[in-house]
Amino acid sequence: MSEEHHPHTGHNHNDCIESALETAEQLCAEQGQRLTKVRRRALELIWESHRPLGAYQLLAKLAEEGFNSAPPTVYRALDFLLAAGLIHKVESMNAFLGCVHADKAHKGYFLICDECHNVMEFDYQDIHASLIARAAEQDFELRSETIELTGLCSACKKAGASL
Ligand SMILES: [Zn+2]
Ligand SMILES: [Zn+2]
Ligand SMILES: [Zn+2]
Repeated sequence: MSEEHHPHTGHNHNDCIESALETAEQLCAEQGQRLTKVRRRALELIWESHRPLGAYQLLAKLAEEGFNSAPPTVYRALDFLLAAGLIHKVESMNAFLGCVHADKAHKGYFLICDECHNVMEFDYQDIHASLIARAAEQDFELRSETIELTGLCSACKKAGASL
């Protein structure tokens, strides 16, 4: 795979992976859960980049490495990681993204770059609060919210400008 720009230019992505795995170990220990080999490897593969990974891509990678990659095994691992808040599902891409602050309960709101397909989380408590308030005005009980914005990330904007 070619060297591609990251959402945060010049950042050391190994640090992202390391800290994600560390947080995962810690959260699992706190919750009395086991970060089994397949769960851990699935998380690591999802964290290979800031581009979300589809279930089938994950399945193929795990199979290549000799894991039991029967779909139920992989889907159970994904369910576990989602429930633990370690990954998010990016609905419009039907793919999974490692969460950068898994230790804090939050909604995943996403900025999706059309060019490089990197996805960044953005944290807007005020959007969440106003959604709940607007829904309540209509006596609507909110159960899910999907906020996925598309556009051009800072790195791609710069790359475009320098052409
Ligand atoms: Zn990174
Ligand atoms: Zn998150
Ligand atoms: Zn981009």
